[in-house]
Parts: sequence; C-alpha cells; structure tokens
Amino acid sequence: MEDHDGQRLPNNAAGKYFTTEECDGCAYCAAVAPENFDFDKPTNTYFIGKQPETPEEEEMVIEAMDDCPVDAIRREGDVMREILVEDGDNGRPKE
Ligand code: SF4
Repeated sequence: MEDHDGQRLPNNAAGKYFTTEECDGCAYCAAVAPENFDFDKPTNTYFIGKQPETPEEEEMVIEAMDDCPVDAIRREGDVMREILVEDGDNGRPKE
C-alpha cells in the first residue's frame, strides 16, 4: 500500500485538522483561511494555528484542504477514505 502518512507538523494546534511535513509553504491555505493557518518561518511550512471554531471557518479550512497542491492538510479519520479514493475503487469490492 502506498505510504500516505506524512508526519503531522508539531506546531499544529491540538484538534482534528492538521498539516504535515509535505507542506511546501505555498501559502495558499493561509490565503483561504487566514484565521486558522499560521506560518513557521524556520521550516517554511504552514500549520493549523487555531482549529476552526465556526461552520464558516471549517468551510474555509476544508476548502484549503481540498485544494492544497501537495495534499498536506488532513483531517483525523480521513486516512482510509483518502487511500480508497487514491486507489480508485471507492471501497467497493474488486470484480
Ligand atoms: S496549501 Fe498546502 S502546501 Fe500550501 S502552505 Fe498550505 S499546507 Fe502548505
């Protein structure tokens, strides 16, 4: 199975959303959800500085997650879904 487990960056605020070491610092997420993403200059990475607290903030974080160019934004509990989607079988048994 493909390794899809980039390490969670240590700066992320505790909670279900987080960024991983795959982040390349493109800053897209901070443009979409500036309330929730912060920049760590020494490592040139962005991290969840504050978990989303309102439906609007969560929507923006999800938008950033969906569009992150290197898939470095994750939500706890989504790992299996991502693997299934990558494999293209949507969880259905193979024929
Ligand atoms: S959009 Fe993705 S790659 Fe770009 S800064 Fe945010 S987490 Fe990093």
